[in-house]
Amino acid sequence: MKTALITGITGQDGSYLAEFLLKKKYKVIGFRRRSSVFNTERIDHIIGNKNLILEYGDITDSLSIINVLNKYKPNEIYNLAAQSHVAVSFNNPEYTANVDALGTLRVLEAVRSLGLKSRIYQASTSELYGTNSHIPQNEDTDFMPASPYGVAKLYAFWITKIYRESYGLYACNGILFNHESPRRGNTFVSQKIIKHLVALDNKITNKPLELGNLYSLRDWGHAKEYVDMQWRMLQQKIPEDYVIATGKQYTVKEFVNKTINALNLRIEWTGEGINEKGFVNGKLWVKINKKYFRPNEVPTLLGDASKAEKELKWKPIVTIDKLIDEMIHAAKK
Ligand code: NAP
Ligand code: GDP
Repeated sequence: MKTALITGITGQDGSYLAEFLLKKKYKVIGFRRRSSVFNTERIDHIIGNKNLILEYGDITDSLSIINVLNKYKPNEIYNLAAQSHVAVSFNNPEYTANVDALGTLRVLEAVRSLGLKSRIYQASTSELYGTNSHIPQNEDTDFMPASPYGVAKLYAFWITKIYRESYGLYACNGILFNHESPRRGNTFVSQKIIKHLVALDNKITNKPLELGNLYSLRDWGHAKEYVDMQWRMLQQKIPEDYVIATGKQYTVKEFVNKTINALNLRIEWTGEGINEKGFVNGKLWVKINKKYFRPNEVPTLLGDASKAEKELKWKPIVTIDKLIDEMIHAAKK
């Protein structure tokens, strides 16, 4: 039986990955941090599975990482733990660097110094491309991060590559473009749009949805499909880095429009810039609030996943419309 350690098991990807690996008969060790409120909502349905073990730890605490790795000597490590919100990284830049950059170093160094043979997946991100508007972006595109999150993840990307090349560790970077699901955190734009518009539609609220930049472009895929790719990267003969993306991009405004269509409604847009507004049946449903603009924006992300399609034998299946339908369905419950 193979053993996999997942840091960030309580997050969106960690929860899908844990389900995926349990189905594949892995013993799954979940590295979870202590919180003053329950933080296991996304994995409560699998707690109790005899092949799932949860251990307290924190990616900022080397001892907790070393102890858990030494105890289980996992075949595979999925380093998903992160302060994953770009906007928040501007408020907590040092913490973001500690978790996202140094946290990765701690995992790699623990594997190296303990002499483990664990294969390591590092959760890299399209945010590495930042302000590089050359699209589509692939493994050869230059990185130009535009946030404390992006630059912390850039360190993590390079240190993973450096440990692979210097010490022969089996370590891969998955450069994943945005991926969403009903388990996406509430403050990411997809989930924020869907939950708020569903609440307006169901008359649970009458407050308009407040957004920032409507015109940034994102390549949105489904998290469930993307965790399969994380696993596939660790099953290759030679460790390499891969872009995972759908190859389609939409603006935030198009995401709003698609959600409105999926709810069988119509939206009329008026005004420009900070005064842009969206009306549904004559009522104000969407407005702009300056506070949701970031100090620096990543204007366009569009991934070219042809390397993954060829070598990992993958093609994205879930379209943005299917993703939105699934998220709406979950938000209505
Ligand atoms: P998420 O839902 O925010 O989950 C992050 C996980 O990290 C949570 O389990 C969180 O624990 C944990 N964590 C945060 N700080 C920690 C610490 N100090 N010690 C231990 N655990 C800590 O993120 P996600 O969407 O699943 O993303 C997974 C990974 O992929 C992240 O590294 C993210 O940056 C990266 N990524 C995500 C996307 C995307 O579109 N989703 C795209 C590219 C890359 P709590 O539950 O206690 O908060
Ligand atoms: P990101 O691509 O990792 O930053 O994922 P997000 O879902 O947080 O943001 C996607 C895009 O939506 C970014 O360009 C944001 O600037 C834009 N956006 C516009 N309004 C909002 C908002 O109210 N919340 C968030 N999170 N993003 C917003």
